[in-house]
Amino acid sequence: MAYEVEKPDEEWRAQLTPAEYQVLRRAGTEPAFRGEYTDTKTKGVYSCRACGAELFTSNEKFESHCGWPSFYDPKDSEAVELVVDTSHGMTRTEVRCARCGSHLGHVFDGEGYPTPTDQRYCINSISLRLEPEEG
Ligand SMILES: [Zn+2]
Repeated sequence: MAYEVEKPDEEWRAQLTPAEYQVLRRAGTEPAFRGEYTDTKTKGVYSCRACGAELFTSNEKFESHCGWPSFYDPKDSEAVELVVDTSHGMTRTEVRCARCGSHLGHVFDGEGYPTPTDQRYCINSISLRLEPEEG
């Protein structure tokens, strides 16, 4: 699939820090409970750290206590791409930025969280950048 934003690997390497590159472009995972947005309650919009697309908002963020920022829904369903991921001996659903294809995290269904969707978008802080709401 072709993404709206596509760059050669060396450009992503130059643009991103090594830690950002490892998660966004190599589908890595940041350590649990260490990400800068894990417990953030600031109101605002979370954008893709690679391309700036608006992906999630503070309205759908909830406390999952799983160690990563968790959202029950993306800002728009078209903002993210869901891909079956069978790495690490598990079948999971990977969440990517639909604009640039960068790895964001995974989405889990039916865990029983008291949210409208019963889904948990488990997203790496380092994949996101929070734009706080004005005023
Ligand atoms: Zn992106």
